[in-house]
Amino acid sequence: MKLEKIMVIGAGQMGSGIAQVCAEAGYDVILNDLNSQLTEHGKNRIRSNLLRQVSKGRMKTEEMEAILSLISLSNKLEDAGDVDLVIEAAVENIDTKSDIFRRLDEVTPEHTILASNTSSLPITELAAATNRPEKVIGMHFMNPVPVMKLVEIIRGLATADEVYRTIESLTKALEKVPVEVNDFPGFVSNRILMPMINEAIFTLQEGVATKEAIDEVMRLGMNHPMGPLTLADFIGLDTCLYIMETLHEGLGEDKYRPCPLLRKYVKAGWLGRKTGRGFYEYK
Ligand code: NAD
Repeated sequence: MKLEKIMVIGAGQMGSGIAQVCAEAGYDVILNDLNSQLTEHGKNRIRSNLLRQVSKGRMKTEEMEAILSLISLSNKLEDAGDVDLVIEAAVENIDTKSDIFRRLDEVTPEHTILASNTSSLPITELAAATNRPEKVIGMHFMNPVPVMKLVEIIRGLATADEVYRTIESLTKALEKVPVEVNDFPGFVSNRILMPMINEAIFTLQEGVATKEAIDEVMRLGMNHPMGPLTLADFIGLDTCLYIMETLHEGLGEDKYRPCPLLRKYVKAGWLGRKTGRGFYEYK
């Protein structure tokens, strides 16, 4: 199936990155969020990413302007009335996402594929909110989207082969590497990554070492590019908590219980980089 126009829902760190790479590949993109302040903020984030490329001599100013001109902004889902694909990247919450999928099913044409960038939630459950489960699929980008090559593509129970192939081709057109994964809580990436981050938070909570020491052990000892607590701040502590809750509920084992210290930080509004404070402080 040929894709020309794409709506990205959620203009946060992931949605703006997804809109950027789609526009860089020449697609028409509508970036949607709850209000114009949020969408403007998302587009400004894209502009500063591209400006960095221009200042390094990797992109011409005219190319940047051409990419930006492909991205329009929207604050209502009805604007998806003529798109071929929606990539949803709203907050990691099953009720919010199910409601978005239910409404998208009503406002998009029959042929439109509905994809979710969820980190952990069941694609099959999102599909069940629609009357087109065969056209619902997971497209899990990594953060930061313009830099990271991997996209996990998640087949729901009813996802059609043709839909899978279309999304696989799109992923390659975005110069990313698709990896096929089945629909289980956390898929592959977060089933392995997030319990490690959660364990690092338990290690901090129990006073085994300082946050700096925990991060340094994993960076220097395991050759990770950043320590788990720095990475948690980067991902967003609210997103980390949602993912742990999904793993705990979906797999039903104690080893996936979210660390109380993680809950405490989220309740305090210390969500990491995006709020200026998480395990570390950001100016
Ligand atoms: P974020 O908090 O930066 O952005 C979420 C955006 O969604 C916000 O701008 C919010 O206003 C918007 N939103 C909420 N409800 C909405 C609605 N009903 N309609 C339209 N917009 C709505 O979060 P993020 O880090 O960009 O994460 C977004 C999604 O991507 C989540 O599902 C998350 O699990 C997934 N994800 C995150 C990462 C990561 O490292 N942060 C990596 C891969 C996938």
